[in-house]
Amino acid sequence: MSAQIIDGKALALSLRESIAQEVSLLQKNTGVQPGLAAVLVGDDPASAIYVRNKKIACEKAGLYPQEHLLPSSTTEEALLDLIHQLNVDPKIHGILVQLPLPPHIESKAILQAVSPEKDADGFHPVNVGRLVEGDPVFVPCTPKGVIHMIDSTGLDIGGKRAVVIGRSNIVGKPIAMLLLHRHATVTICHSRTKDLPSVVREADIVIAAIGKPFFVTPDMIKEGAVVIDVGINRLDNGKLVGDVDFDRVKAHAGWITPVPGGVGPMTIAMLLQNTLESAKRFAQ
Ligand code: NDP
Repeated sequence: MSAQIIDGKALALSLRESIAQEVSLLQKNTGVQPGLAAVLVGDDPASAIYVRNKKIACEKAGLYPQEHLLPSSTTEEALLDLIHQLNVDPKIHGILVQLPLPPHIESKAILQAVSPEKDADGFHPVNVGRLVEGDPVFVPCTPKGVIHMIDSTGLDIGGKRAVVIGRSNIVGKPIAMLLLHRHATVTICHSRTKDLPSVVREADIVIAAIGKPFFVTPDMIKEGAVVIDVGINRLDNGKLVGDVDFDRVKAHAGWITPVPGGVGPMTIAMLLQNTLESAKRFAQ
């Protein structure tokens, strides 16, 4: 058996088309155009590409993109000033601070300065708390995209065994929380987990969010499981791969996401959706 591929590019495209329609309706009915401000400090090439792609996606869907490209010498105070301005800017409904920030800036202080009402990434402690309570306002984009991808398979998440590998605040933990709210039985694995393969083998749904190429191997996968690969790793030869040994695991899995063309495009689509939903709340 070979797994069915969950095509993140196609799913994201269809989402972006429906977002574009909603953006145009919102603007027609209320005069509000959803606005997303992206803040980039420094000249990390990967971050610059992410911010540029987000801007292009905004423009294509009819959102108003505002870019703030700041030198790496920017002080924490200057960055906080900018965030405070964006918090009260009526044209802006979503604020995104591209991570990582330079070492002299405390990321936590910056993320906490973003208004929870414009926190398009869902990283503010208020939004994290709302997510844990099961009453989220902004759901972090990558985790939201992951759930959308599982739903696209038609699988009922309720009662299934889900294993999330990775426990970061921005990926692993929120994914686990979302799966729990959808009534999965959730286990989170990390670098201290004992006999990780036997834990993962129990899973109907496996989410890999580790950052290690080819970490998830076929012997870890139950026949027919849904395998979602969040990892993005660049090999020495320049090739982009995920955390899952895709070519070998696909023979065991029921559904699997590729890298590239899997979770990555969904993350951007969800950022647009979060900004649209925020603009709708402001319009009310
Ligand atoms: P982090 O480095 O913050 O977290 C990695 C997690 O993996 C940690 O919890 C760590 O465990 C765990 N881990 C590391 N090594 C092992 C191991 N040998 N066995 C078990 N667990 C291990 O990464 P992120 O969560 O930020 O990102 C994960 C991956 O997802 C990266 O490749 C990143 O590039 C990608 N990513 C992709 C996005 C997309 O849009 N597709 C968006 C965001 C991230 P411990 O806590 O014990 O150290």
